[in-house]
Amino acid sequence: MSYSSRGRKVRRRRKTLNIRNLIILIAGCVVTILLFVLLVHGAVRLISKGIGALSELGGDDSSISSGVSEGTSGESSEVSEPPVSWTTVEMTEADERSGDLILVNAAHEYTSEPEDMTILYGNKPNSYGLKVAEMYLKTPALNALNEMMDAFQASSGISSTLVTSTYRTAEEQQELYEADIAATGGSGSGEVAQAGHSEHHTGYAVDLMYSSPTGYAYLDGTGSYAWFNENCYQYGYIVRYTADKQAITGIVSEPWHLRYVGPVHAEAIQRGDYCLEEYIDMIKLHDSTNPYSFVSGSGETYLIYYVPGEGATTQVPVQVGRSYEVSGTNEGGFIVTIPTSSTGTTDSQPAADGVSGTSEPGVSGVSGVSGVSGAAADGTSDGSGSSGSASN
Ligand SMILES: [Zn+2]
Repeated sequence: MSYSSRGRKVRRRRKTLNIRNLIILIAGCVVTILLFVLLVHGAVRLISKGIGALSELGGDDSSISSGVSEGTSGESSEVSEPPVSWTTVEMTEADERSGDLILVNAAHEYTSEPEDMTILYGNKPNSYGLKVAEMYLKTPALNALNEMMDAFQASSGISSTLVTSTYRTAEEQQELYEADIAATGGSGSGEVAQAGHSEHHTGYAVDLMYSSPTGYAYLDGTGSYAWFNENCYQYGYIVRYTADKQAITGIVSEPWHLRYVGPVHAEAIQRGDYCLEEYIDMIKLHDSTNPYSFVSGSGETYLIYYVPGEGATTQVPVQVGRSYEVSGTNEGGFIVTIPTSSTGTTDSQPAADGVSGTSEPGVSGVSGVSGVSGAAADGTSDGSGSSGSASN
């Protein structure tokens, strides 16, 4: 018994020794860490003071001092928004007649041929039907149509809507025009444009019919199909010919004829109650120094402005470091659209779509990192590369 009690005492003493050692060790560690933190803090302050002094001495590398202040103080409010700087992208005369804002009417002939079109057959959902197998639309217009028709089916349960006309050649339009003249005894119905003056040449227009008890009929904008009047803008389409704008468009009301102009402009046109002619006239009042500022329903602010064409080539101003879309108007100029929250992308992302004037989605802008000249060079080279292949 006594032996074992002695052993316990010894163990107890060892235990207290161990605890004392542990306390000393922890205290040592804390002191070491404190010393280290103080040392690092002092070093950083010294370095930032040194760089600050350097930049005060006339060093033009402001990015270093702003970088350091951001890193040490963590006060992001000190780093103000960089001022907007501008560069240009070169557009050709052919680009004036290309893009989703081109105006085609009795006064403005479409003399190009659209490219980058996709056949609807095999590239559409089951939410609508096709009148014939050979139908084509500009690819962004088709993608938007597919989304819109899916949404209409989800909302109404109707999947029998029929796409009856999309892209038409000038020859097809001429036949339609002559048939219309013959059928109306020479006066014309006011619904069929002459060859070269129909939006169907552009690949941006689509006609819709609905299934009725007596067969198919053109959309009349009533009943379930009023959905299109109210919602097509969300997919980048506008009802192009309405009764109240007939005096301007020269075309009678056609609730079945939808025209793709892209979601931003479709929303601006819808909200402002413009027809395309009026909308372009309104944008023409705004140049790059005084852009039209449009806030979309999603909260994004877009700067939209007009640049008159200058002949063979036009230097179109765009903002460095922001993405942009440039569309021709087919009436002598360009419309530029800049989402203000955009920050552009890296140099490796081509700006081809924006520069070529097709104004398709996914356009990337010039990079602000490489500076104005670098960005301009990128834009120009991409433009010339793509405009060789795009002629619409
Ligand atoms: Zn039509």
